[in-house]
Amino acid sequence: MTYVLAIDQGTTSSRAILFDTDIKPRAVSQQEYPQHYPRSGWVEHDPLDIWNTTLETCRAAMADAAAGAEDIAAIGITNQRETVVVWNKHTGQPIHNAIVWQDRRTADICDDLRSRGYELLITEKTGLLLDPYFSATKIKWILDNTPGAREAADQGELLCGTIDTWLIWNLTGGRVHATDATNACRTMLYDIYKGNWSVTITDLLEIPRTMLPEVRDSAADFGETLPELLGSPVKICGVAGDQQAATLGQACFSPGMIKSTYGTGCFALLNTGDRPVRSKHRLLTTIAYQLDGKPTYALEGSIFIAGAVIQWLRDGLGIIQSAPESNELAAQADPGQDVILVPAFTGLGAPYWKPSARGAVFGLSRNSGPAEFARAALQSVGYQTRDLMEAMHADWTNQGEEAVLRVDGGMSASDYAMQFLADIIGAQVDRPEILETTAVGAAWLAGMHCGIYPDMDEFASRWALQKRFEPAMPAKERDSRYSRWKRAVEAAMLV
Ligand code: ADP
Repeated sequence: MTYVLAIDQGTTSSRAILFDTDIKPRAVSQQEYPQHYPRSGWVEHDPLDIWNTTLETCRAAMADAAAGAEDIAAIGITNQRETVVVWNKHTGQPIHNAIVWQDRRTADICDDLRSRGYELLITEKTGLLLDPYFSATKIKWILDNTPGAREAADQGELLCGTIDTWLIWNLTGGRVHATDATNACRTMLYDIYKGNWSVTITDLLEIPRTMLPEVRDSAADFGETLPELLGSPVKICGVAGDQQAATLGQACFSPGMIKSTYGTGCFALLNTGDRPVRSKHRLLTTIAYQLDGKPTYALEGSIFIAGAVIQWLRDGLGIIQSAPESNELAAQADPGQDVILVPAFTGLGAPYWKPSARGAVFGLSRNSGPAEFARAALQSVGYQTRDLMEAMHADWTNQGEEAVLRVDGGMSASDYAMQFLADIIGAQVDRPEILETTAVGAAWLAGMHCGIYPDMDEFASRWALQKRFEPAMPAKERDSRYSRWKRAVEAAMLV
């Protein structure tokens, strides 16, 4: 048996999955690890927890499949994005906990850059918005706030990297300090137009360029693992950030294809081909993947609350016991009522970017009850996706081709939510058989690079549909419902 080992290092857990030669999962191991919240708005991970759980899950998945290192053709890595680690290059010890993507502690650094007029410059080079979410200000914070860090950095003693880089460095015993273009482009230090670390931005943030990893293609040679880790050396041949890996796993290789992942939140990526598109609607311009030195770009939009609104029905309102029940309850809702829920529980993401907004419910009557709330919650995901699609289409038009939306993530299991999504965006929604798209994407990169998996066209032709949702709502109803949603969002932002 020959396998590809996919490492999926996520925000709350590390996973390892062994895929066989047909790219079917054969063994999975998963471990949660602690989250640290030292202050309000701060989120940290212990980098050694990340490394140890990754190694342990790799070993456990191999044991489960009775596979030795010699049975593994290659390793592919996908990871939580933007989270950063700074470590000493001689000892391998982190000088601070990893600062996680969710962490807001560097809002002041962003405000300062904004007041000094650097916002446009940063957006124009990186394709990102000036926000604490991205890695750059987190690295600066660690250097400014860890005793001795600045001096050590200036003397070339320190290295930094996103989680892929930290794992590669540990897997190769410190021999390889590298990242891929999809991770580099989330740091807010990478010029996505020129394809290199921006001298202007690294200077502005006082981050020595000697700390930064070498940027490689997503399918490339990232060195091999130390023999003692897995039994014998295994090559690392694929790396991509989690949302980009899902885009690959969904085979969204043609311009105009969109994948939308519905987990706790929702991330949608639109492939825009070899052209980076500057968004006028506050979407991010990002690299979807880079192969043979050629980047393929995407527009990205994120929604903070997708599946989380269903968790709120369960844990906040207590009107369902489990997520799937929301669908049965919604089916009982009164067709004569149109209750709208704007789930801005933690502010609004793309395209509004209003951190101060909070949730709101509109259209309540005396007859409104749990069923109408459940329906409104499931529909809110469709409405928010339409907001993203409107922004994407305003920024970028594909020459007359129909948009295709491929969905994945836990909430894509809801037929009700997916049908409403197709209805409200007025486009076909396709749900694949395999929902493990992130791990599949990482595995495919590695397996393709080492020659055991098919090329892009063949891989895309194997993408298998589980269910297609066709829009059934009359255009007039779609438009009037959507304009009501827009008014509801505007009202929610006013309060
Ligand atoms: P994450 O990776 O962010 O933890 P998952 O991809 O595992 O998320 O998706 C879990 C989310 O999907 C939960 O928020 C849950 O409420 C929602 N969910 C799962 N199954 C259903 C369902 N049948 N109907 C509606 N929502 C669901």
